[in-house]
Amino acid sequence: MNRRDLLTRGAWMAALGLAGRGLPALAQAAPAAPQGAARPAPKGTTLILLGTQGGPGINLARGEAANAVVVDGQPYLVDCGYGTLRALLQAGLRLVDVGHVCLTHLHNDHTSDVAALLSHQWTGAKTQPTTVHGPHGTEALVAGAIAFFKGDTDIRTVDEGRTVRPESLFRGHDVAAGAAPVEVFRDERVRITAIENDHFPDRAKARMPYRSVAYRVDTPTRSIVFSGDTAPSQRLVELARNADFFVCEAIDVAQHARLTEQARQALAAGNENSVARHVAETHSTTEDVGRMAAQAKVKTVVLSHLLPGSNAGPGGELPDTAYIEAVRRFFDGQVIVGRDGMRL
Ligand SMILES: [Zn+2]
Ligand SMILES: [Zn+2]
Repeated sequence: MNRRDLLTRGAWMAALGLAGRGLPALAQAAPAAPQGAARPAPKGTTLILLGTQGGPGINLARGEAANAVVVDGQPYLVDCGYGTLRALLQAGLRLVDVGHVCLTHLHNDHTSDVAALLSHQWTGAKTQPTTVHGPHGTEALVAGAIAFFKGDTDIRTVDEGRTVRPESLFRGHDVAAGAAPVEVFRDERVRITAIENDHFPDRAKARMPYRSVAYRVDTPTRSIVFSGDTAPSQRLVELARNADFFVCEAIDVAQHARLTEQARQALAAGNENSVARHVAETHSTTEDVGRMAAQAKVKTVVLSHLLPGSNAGPGGELPDTAYIEAVRRFFDGQVIVGRDGMRL
């Protein structure tokens, strides 16, 4: 190694905070931890909402869909839309500690940060594998992410002496979920099961192999169900039976009515596959959420993937009561309107 190499490498390592420690400062998010001190992992299960905006679109108040279930300090992600990486750091979690990601489906508001996460785990010197589970196409999505940052890995392999190949760290697994729950993943902290939900209409499924799922995460102390995106779904009700937390997507009743009218007009004009029809037919209103929660007898409803969320117009947000009142028509347990960074 010549002097330039040493200088370059030294400056690079110092910039990342690698010297003398072994984990990069870029991936460190714990502001309160003294330098070098190992923080004891908090015991128990915490649900952290990382992104709560419904649909694709970037705004400054709510990130795209993402959640973390943190069990004894270990984060498990459900969805990874745009904004997930910053949200993880704001929640005090390190990117390199994420070892498992479950995708509900491959719409971009649920996957946009997957390539960014894996790429930065690799530059962050992660040594343990990260697995990504999701419906058909997830294995290809991870392979595509690795291909997307191949230039970076090739450059750094030559120029920084790195030896780990991303293919050996990152794995995508397609989940074949159907009408009955299937176990997706299990370790000493969690058991994750999935069912197919009702996000994609039959007329679309007949023309594509892609599917959409809901997940249930059972830990030693809690059960948390994530609806993913879905129209009202009896299979989701079964998956959510008696869960502590039901994290469910929700579209405001009035907005749903407006979209249904737009879809009707589009259909009358000969457009069978309008965006309005997609949104109106493949999502759940707050009233639908209340009905499913009551049927499943869950303890707490957490509304996320909110429509309109932060796109309600000049005011930015509907009042929480607009969402809650509609759920309450059918469900008398606790109802929480999700916000980014909320810890439950
Ligand atoms: Zn979505
Ligand atoms: Zn979707």
